[in-house]
Amino acid sequence: MKTNNLHQAEKKETVAPLRQSLQESLAHMQKHCNDCPKCRTECAFLRKYGTPREIASNYDSFQNQHLTLACECNLCGLCGAVCPKALHPEEMFLEMRREAVDRKMVPLPEHHALLAYERRGVSGRFSYYMLPKNCHTVFFPGCAFPGTRPEQTLRIFDHLQKVDPSLGMVLDCCCKPSHDLGRSDYFQAMMDEMKSFLVEHGIRKIITACPNCHQIFKTYGTPLEVTTVYELLLQCGLPDSVSVEGVSAVSVHDPCVARFESAIQDAVRKLAVLSGFALVSMPHERCKAICCGEGGNVGAVAPEFSEVWTTRRREEAGGRLLLTYCAGCAGNLSRHTPTAHILDAVLDPESAVSGKIRVSKSPWTYLNRLKVKQILKKKNSAGAVTRERLFSADPPIEKKVWGRIIMLVFFAAVIGALHGAGGMRFLDPGFLRQWVASWGVFAPVLYIVVYTLAPVFFMPGLPITIAGGILFGPVWGVVYTIIGATSGACAAFLVARYAARDWIQARLRSPRWKRLDEGVSRHGWKIVAFTRLIPVFPFNLLNYAFGLTSIPLGHYALASFVCMLPACIAFIVFSSSLPDMVRGRISPEFIIGLALIGIVMSVPVLHRIFKHKFKNK
Ligand code: SF4
Ligand code: SF4
Ligand code: SF4
Repeated sequence: MKTNNLHQAEKKETVAPLRQSLQESLAHMQKHCNDCPKCRTECAFLRKYGTPREIASNYDSFQNQHLTLACECNLCGLCGAVCPKALHPEEMFLEMRREAVDRKMVPLPEHHALLAYERRGVSGRFSYYMLPKNCHTVFFPGCAFPGTRPEQTLRIFDHLQKVDPSLGMVLDCCCKPSHDLGRSDYFQAMMDEMKSFLVEHGIRKIITACPNCHQIFKTYGTPLEVTTVYELLLQCGLPDSVSVEGVSAVSVHDPCVARFESAIQDAVRKLAVLSGFALVSMPHERCKAICCGEGGNVGAVAPEFSEVWTTRRREEAGGRLLLTYCAGCAGNLSRHTPTAHILDAVLDPESAVSGKIRVSKSPWTYLNRLKVKQILKKKNSAGAVTRERLFSADPPIEKKVWGRIIMLVFFAAVIGALHGAGGMRFLDPGFLRQWVASWGVFAPVLYIVVYTLAPVFFMPGLPITIAGGILFGPVWGVVYTIIGATSGACAAFLVARYAARDWIQARLRSPRWKRLDEGVSRHGWKIVAFTRLIPVFPFNLLNYAFGLTSIPLGHYALASFVCMLPACIAFIVFSSSLPDMVRGRISPEFIIGLALIGIVMSVPVLHRIFKHKFKNK
């Protein structure tokens, strides 16, 4: 323990000090926050971790859980909106995220999907700039809106172009995800490049549809002026559309980023009224707006907090249609309560009321964005400036596609050569099993030893399982594989518990591992059973993570053995049919194995569906 403390103290001396901006933010919070605790009453994250002053006072950048803590706050700013001392805890949490990025603790694995989404948005394939001659204003619809609503995007653009024929359009991402994850250098470089291009080509004004893009351009886009399509539609008139028949009562969900944008809030409400809707207020709207649950990518990191926000929003809506002006909010909320985008309501109010608006979901959203880009390309007028954005502030990602193609060609060549040389007899199940039997007890022992060591060295288990099915057949393959898989899971567990605790702890930095620990303390072996049946965590890391919890080895081993068995049977039965399949024969094991794999893989999907249905009742 003493050596550990000395080690920590030495480390503190050698590591760079906190960012200046974070130091100031923490000091300011400690000095002015009086734990009143208005913000805590509103926010589940603060209820769990303490008032902003307590969090600031306890902050220690040498503890992983402090560095990643801010990833559980969705930066919605409600705390700032209710604070009687005009403090803004959300700014402190953003600074904490930036510090975590500096210390290479963030992005977390849970952020990778969002960053990949952003990377596609700024890529040459998806981005497109179309600036007609004499263009000084561009429509910037963002990522989610054209992805989910391509027709509406083009209709709005056509309508705005009637008023300003030199209006251009920019299909690109404002990089708000990187901004909110604290990747400030990357974000700034991307923003600067986009801004320089636009300013150099005479653009003076941006029209946004997404409140996130609006906030980004407003904060970082100087000298570009920014307005929203909602304010503009009020000035230039609505496209040809009809009002809703009879008066439908709706409420407006203000996206959290727009909480202080009263002009946009008013414009959206006026558009709703002009489309024939009657507005009903909710306790949390305008500056007291609550997040849809997806702010700051918290849904991926701390789904329990995200759920609290969504549930509150659903309860306040009380079954009424919600209108919002963020395609992200609309997408997230519509999974829990009837929700439409205000532009759905403006362009087709009847369908918005009846829930018949066609809104695409991923992966179709990507196709839609490409479709919008193609149509925009065709609209090019003579003298227009166009570009696909090729600049990236990230180092290029190694392309693995070629590696995969080479592997496929290699396997095809091996099978071809085996065929040619009459070597297919080696793949005859009878021959193979005879050959394995000739090794006696040595073959299964060696197989089990390899399977036991594999998880300790992070080797993937699937190829070993497939080999087990091929070599030992559907019955003994299951027996040896489940013994090997359980021993491997226990070996990694013991390494984490007794040999490399600190090292493993340093690597499992995501808050979800902390929740696993909390779950085990509350529910014991049931969490092991659940995570074995529903693979929400990567298998190899999970074994190590359980070693850090308080679960007894016996409970862990038994729950792992029983709950890994279904997947083990499915994959072994299937893989035992592979030699026949390569020889062009479809065996009963193939059909049964495939069906079992289907059943095993549908468990997580069914779990998600039932969870949603149950929650929304
Ligand atoms: S989740 Fe929202 S209200 Fe809670 S601390 Fe973060 S910014 Fe504040
Ligand atoms: S509302 Fe303001 S003063 Fe009160 S606990 Fe929150 S940050 Fe502190
Ligand atoms: S989806 Fe809406 S509530 Fe969520 S972050 Fe975006 S603007 Fe905020």
